[in-house]
Amino acid sequence: MSEDLFLKIISREIPADIVYETDDVLAFRDVNPQAPLHVLIIPKLHIRTINDIQAQDAELVGKLFLAAREIAAGQGIAEDGYRVVMNCNAMAGQTVFHIHLHLLGGRRLDWPPG
Ligand code: AMP
Repeated sequence: MSEDLFLKIISREIPADIVYETDDVLAFRDVNPQAPLHVLIIPKLHIRTINDIQAQDAELVGKLFLAAREIAAGQGIAEDGYRVVMNCNAMAGQTVFHIHLHLLGGRRLDWPPG
Protein backbone atom coordinates (compact mmCIF):
# COMPACT_ATOMS: atom_id res chain seq x y z
CA MET A 1 0.00 0.00 0.00
CA SER A 2 1.28 3.42 -0.91
CA GLU A 3 1.55 6.19 1.69
CA ASP A 4 0.25 8.67 -0.86
CA LEU A 5 -3.55 8.77 -0.91
CA PHE A 6 -3.71 10.01 -4.47
CA LEU A 7 -1.34 7.29 -5.71
CA LYS A 8 -3.87 4.85 -4.25
CA ILE A 9 -6.59 6.51 -6.31
CA ILE A 10 -4.41 6.28 -9.44
CA SER A 11 -3.84 2.56 -8.79
CA ARG A 12 -7.56 2.06 -7.98
CA GLU A 13 -6.76 0.86 -4.46
CA ILE A 14 -9.17 3.57 -3.30
CA PRO A 15 -12.34 4.32 -5.30
CA ALA A 16 -12.95 7.76 -6.74
CA ASP A 17 -15.43 9.43 -9.07
CA ILE A 18 -13.05 9.82 -12.02
CA VAL A 19 -14.06 12.41 -14.61
CA TYR A 20 -10.94 12.59 -16.80
CA GLU A 21 -7.89 10.44 -17.46
CA THR A 22 -4.90 10.48 -19.79
CA ASP A 23 -1.55 8.70 -19.65
CA ASP A 24 -0.19 11.48 -17.41
CA VAL A 25 -3.15 13.03 -15.63
CA LEU A 26 -6.14 11.92 -13.57
CA ALA A 27 -9.09 14.01 -12.38
CA PHE A 28 -11.78 13.02 -9.91
CA ARG A 29 -14.47 14.68 -7.82
CA ASP A 30 -13.42 16.01 -4.42
CA VAL A 31 -14.95 13.92 -1.62
CA ASN A 32 -15.77 17.14 0.29
CA PRO A 33 -16.92 19.51 -2.45
CA GLN A 34 -16.70 23.27 -1.87
CA ALA A 35 -18.72 24.16 -4.98
CA PRO A 36 -21.28 22.41 -7.21
CA LEU A 37 -18.31 21.33 -9.33
CA HIS A 38 -15.15 20.54 -7.37
CA VAL A 39 -12.67 18.34 -9.20
CA LEU A 40 -9.06 17.53 -8.26
CA ILE A 41 -6.62 17.28 -11.16
CA ILE A 42 -3.41 15.41 -10.43
CA PRO A 43 -0.32 14.23 -12.30
CA LYS A 44 0.22 10.49 -12.15
CA LEU A 45 3.84 11.28 -11.31
CA HIS A 46 4.29 11.80 -7.58
CA ILE A 47 5.30 15.40 -6.81
CA ARG A 48 4.80 16.39 -3.15
CA THR A 49 4.31 20.15 -3.38
CA ILE A 50 4.77 23.07 -5.75
CA ASN A 51 8.19 23.50 -4.12
CA ASP A 52 9.21 20.11 -5.54
CA ILE A 53 8.28 20.85 -9.17
CA GLN A 54 11.36 20.60 -11.42
CA ALA A 55 12.01 22.26 -14.76
CA GLN A 56 11.47 18.94 -16.51
CA ASP A 57 7.95 18.79 -15.03
CA ALA A 58 6.85 21.96 -16.84
CA GLU A 59 4.99 20.15 -19.63
CA LEU A 60 3.28 17.84 -17.15
CA VAL A 61 2.16 20.75 -14.97
CA GLY A 62 0.86 22.48 -18.09
CA LYS A 63 -1.24 19.40 -18.79
CA LEU A 64 -3.06 19.92 -15.49
CA PHE A 65 -4.34 23.24 -16.85
CA LEU A 66 -5.27 21.69 -20.19
CA ALA A 67 -7.27 19.13 -18.23
CA ALA A 68 -8.97 21.94 -16.28
CA ARG A 69 -9.93 23.61 -19.54
CA GLU A 70 -11.39 20.41 -20.97
CA ILE A 71 -13.30 19.47 -17.83
CA ALA A 72 -14.73 22.99 -17.46
CA ALA A 73 -15.88 22.93 -21.08
CA GLY A 74 -17.35 19.46 -20.69
CA GLN A 75 -19.23 20.49 -17.55
CA GLY A 76 -20.60 23.61 -19.27
CA ILE A 77 -19.00 26.17 -16.95
CA ALA A 78 -16.24 27.51 -19.20
CA GLU A 79 -18.06 30.67 -20.22
CA ASP A 80 -19.62 31.47 -16.83
CA GLY A 81 -16.22 31.08 -15.18
CA TYR A 82 -14.44 28.91 -12.67
CA ARG A 83 -11.34 28.86 -10.51
CA VAL A 84 -8.27 26.65 -10.34
CA VAL A 85 -6.09 26.74 -7.26
CA MET A 86 -3.18 24.72 -5.88
CA ASN A 87 -2.34 24.91 -2.19
CA CYS A 88 1.28 24.60 -1.05
CA ASN A 89 2.18 23.43 2.45
CA ALA A 90 0.62 24.14 5.81
CA MET A 91 -0.13 27.87 5.68
CA ALA A 92 -2.13 27.40 2.48
CA GLY A 93 -3.97 24.38 3.88
CA GLN A 94 -2.38 21.60 1.82
CA THR A 95 -3.43 18.30 3.37
CA VAL A 96 -2.56 15.80 0.64
CA PHE A 97 1.08 15.86 -0.40
CA HIS A 98 0.72 15.03 -4.07
CA ILE A 99 0.19 18.17 -6.10
CA HIS A 100 -3.38 18.75 -7.25
CA LEU A 101 -5.26 21.53 -8.96
CA HIS A 102 -8.64 22.23 -7.42
CA LEU A 103 -11.15 23.08 -10.16
CA LEU A 104 -14.11 24.89 -8.62
CA GLY A 105 -17.20 26.15 -10.40
CA GLY A 106 -20.95 26.25 -10.61
CA ARG A 107 -21.36 29.15 -8.16
CA ARG A 108 -20.02 32.67 -7.66
CA LEU A 109 -16.57 32.49 -6.05
CA ASP A 110 -15.52 35.32 -3.77
CA TRP A 111 -12.16 37.02 -3.84
CA PRO A 112 -9.93 37.15 -1.90
CA PRO A 113 -10.26 33.54 -0.74
CA GLY A 114 -10.12 32.83 2.99
P1 AMP B 1 -5.61 20.24 -0.14
O1 AMP B 1 -6.17 20.67 1.18
O2 AMP B 1 -5.36 21.35 -1.10
O3 AMP B 1 -4.40 19.34 0.03
O4 AMP B 1 -6.75 19.38 -0.83
C1 AMP B 1 -6.94 18.02 -0.58
C2 AMP B 1 -8.33 17.70 -1.04
O5 AMP B 1 -8.44 16.29 -1.18
C3 AMP B 1 -9.43 18.13 -0.09
O6 AMP B 1 -10.30 19.04 -0.77
C4 AMP B 1 -10.14 16.83 0.26
O7 AMP B 1 -11.54 16.98 0.40
C5 AMP B 1 -9.76 15.94 -0.89
N1 AMP B 1 -9.77 14.52 -0.63
C6 AMP B 1 -9.23 13.87 0.41
N2 AMP B 1 -9.40 12.53 0.29
C7 AMP B 1 -10.08 12.34 -0.87
C8 AMP B 1 -10.56 11.19 -1.55
N3 AMP B 1 -10.37 9.94 -1.08
N4 AMP B 1 -11.23 11.37 -2.72
C9 AMP B 1 -11.43 12.60 -3.21
N5 AMP B 1 -10.98 13.73 -2.62
C10 AMP B 1 -10.31 13.61 -1.46
